[in-house]
Amino acid sequence: MEEKKVKKQDSVCTVAKKCGGCVYQGMPYKEQLKRKQKQEEQLLKKFCKVSPIIGMKDPYYYRNKVHAVFDRDRRGNIISGTYQANTHRVIAVEDCMIEDKKSQEIIRTIRHLLKSFKIKTYDEDTGYGLLRHVMVRRGFQTGEIMVILVLGSPILPSKNNFIKALRKEHPEITTIILNVNDKQTSMVLGEKEKVIYGPGFIRDTLCGCTFRISPQSFYQVNPVQTEVLYQTAMEYAGLQGKESVIDAYCGIGTIGMVAAKQAKHVLGIELNKDAVRDAKMNAKENQMNNIEFRQGDAGKFMVDMAKKHQKVDVVFMDPPRAGSDEKFLSSVAQMGPKKVVYVSCNPVTLARDLKYMVKHGYKVEKIQPVDMFPFCDHVENVVLMSKAGKR
Ligand code: SAH
Repeated sequence: MEEKKVKKQDSVCTVAKKCGGCVYQGMPYKEQLKRKQKQEEQLLKKFCKVSPIIGMKDPYYYRNKVHAVFDRDRRGNIISGTYQANTHRVIAVEDCMIEDKKSQEIIRTIRHLLKSFKIKTYDEDTGYGLLRHVMVRRGFQTGEIMVILVLGSPILPSKNNFIKALRKEHPEITTIILNVNDKQTSMVLGEKEKVIYGPGFIRDTLCGCTFRISPQSFYQVNPVQTEVLYQTAMEYAGLQGKESVIDAYCGIGTIGMVAAKQAKHVLGIELNKDAVRDAKMNAKENQMNNIEFRQGDAGKFMVDMAKKHQKVDVVFMDPPRAGSDEKFLSSVAQMGPKKVVYVSCNPVTLARDLKYMVKHGYKVEKIQPVDMFPFCDHVENVVLMSKAGKR
């Protein structure tokens, strides 16, 4: 009986096939975890034992960032949803099982408001019309909500009344941003943006630290599992308060700031300028004096550090899906920190990078998969490497 109930719940999404986001739709969560564990083992078992994947208690509505593309259907009705897998055809999504409920409500309200404000949706083929996308980000701990309206041109007619009407329905919105994207591109956000309500960022808290999040800054989309991920990373690092630490690919400084509470000094490095600005503000707001941030390519930065013979005890690294690069990895190997804690969102590039590190004097000690994306096929991993002979 119980099993049947779960199966029914798991297969309620009507657009799963077209959307393609949730490859494990219709599969009980326990089974999803089993599959992911198996995949992980195939790729990573050769390095060391893979711990059992940590799943979610409640694997629904977990995404704190929700994106909807706007269009019209054949009858001319405004729709919002997602691109059909591998196309630019928009399919309407009414209720997504993995996206934050409140954010989805806001997107529905905006769809209704467009009609009364006579705002046209943007047509990607002709470049005619205005509203392209809406992105909503919500701080699950703070309740603060950011709405980003992505337009094909810079002016939103009746802007103030639109803000008023939207906030009347959703007073919980704390900031609204206009983003202009006038390019033929599959990127959602353009470069130009203007804050039209509130401070232009939201805050959220993770592992006891508060973080400021700007529209373009990376922030993990599953905050519940992010805490599990970071706690595992800290446990692996085993900081005692005396260490010099690097947080590479640091985003808005999340991992580094959690580490700074237990280390002597942390240096964060990140490519995205907005994220670095957020990271610096975050350190100030949390009154942390033992953490600094630099903007730039992590690989180049590590080459410089290695040249200067800088001493580092622990390196945290959390690169994007493409993984790290030889510049970075070879410099780490040269500097020889006692521990490297690799947080990865792609087991394929993780396996490639681990292979390199093992060849260059590191031992893989522990691998912990964390399910950050129930129903989807991504898996996040935390890996502990130690310098061979230097435990
Ligand atoms: N550790 C952070 C961010 C991880 S996402 C967190 O947990 O929230 C990966 C980050 O790497 C992104 O912020 C991205 O902007 C950054 N990045 C991508 N390429 C980079 C490079 N070559 N050098 C430094 N940072 C890079």
